[in-house]
Amino acid sequence: MRINYRELIEDAQNRSYAIGYFEAWNIESLISIVKAAENKRSPVMIGFCGEYLENAERKYEVDLELFSKIAKEVALKSSVPVITLLNESNTVEYTLKGIEAGFDSVMYVDEKIELEEMIIRQQKIVDQAHRKGILVEGEIGSLGLVDASSGDFYEGNKTRPEDAVYFAEKTNVDLLAISFGNVHLLEKSKAELDFDLLKTINEKVSIPLVLHGGTGIADEDFKKTIENGIVKVNIGAGLKREVIKSIQNYFEEYDVDEMNPNDVLGKGNLQDLDFYSHEGLITKVMNYMDLFNSTGKADKYI
Ligand SMILES: [Zn+2]
Repeated sequence: MRINYRELIEDAQNRSYAIGYFEAWNIESLISIVKAAENKRSPVMIGFCGEYLENAERKYEVDLELFSKIAKEVALKSSVPVITLLNESNTVEYTLKGIEAGFDSVMYVDEKIELEEMIIRQQKIVDQAHRKGILVEGEIGSLGLVDASSGDFYEGNKTRPEDAVYFAEKTNVDLLAISFGNVHLLEKSKAELDFDLLKTINEKVSIPLVLHGGTGIADEDFKKTIENGIVKVNIGAGLKREVIKSIQNYFEEYDVDEMNPNDVLGKGNLQDLDFYSHEGLITKVMNYMDLFNSTGKADKYI
């Protein structure tokens, strides 16, 4: 079902849970994430990464409007509240396209841009988004990043509380992603979160806070982040890893050369590759919903 995003945020704050944003990359992953939410009777956010959709090296251009319409339709038909997001576009232009395409919320991020210039750009996005009732997520500070191909680690810059206050006031963004030790693409270890910094920012900033880099957060840390102002958690890399692993297992378990191609793709039986490769994803998302305390929170809307 569709729900007003502001209303859902308020509910999350009142009942101490975080809304999970689980990033999809195609229809199969999108549907699997919603299936997990329905299994757990949890509200959920679905969507795509703007940076990857607008990737200039893509062989075939993405029809953003089609992606938005599919996500919206999946949301509409779901039995639980679903919000759509065009996450982390790297250009203002693409973020505005996301607004035009009808996502419920958008996020623009470019960690190389200076604060004052970023404020100007965000103001433009917020202005256009709010006219259409679309919510905008901003980011202040830059996240650490692990390069999965080389193992290189970039430290990022933790959010300075005074910058967060200034940025939130100047831009009027609706949600604020912050950096307090969380790291993008962290898979092989867990992030060391600076809870004192999170607490300080939460005391000073009135808008809801967002935790990116959810894959690299220790299970036991989610509760404490929610208690200190985090209302939304982004999970991306770990979901794709789960599907990649399942595909590897599939080809170890099945000799596809000896199988009917329709059994490998299309019938949806236990030996169907799409089914097989998404079972782990669904389980993982369900597990996160328990950790975010969002399990069962859709009941009052059903
Ligand atoms: Zn992110």
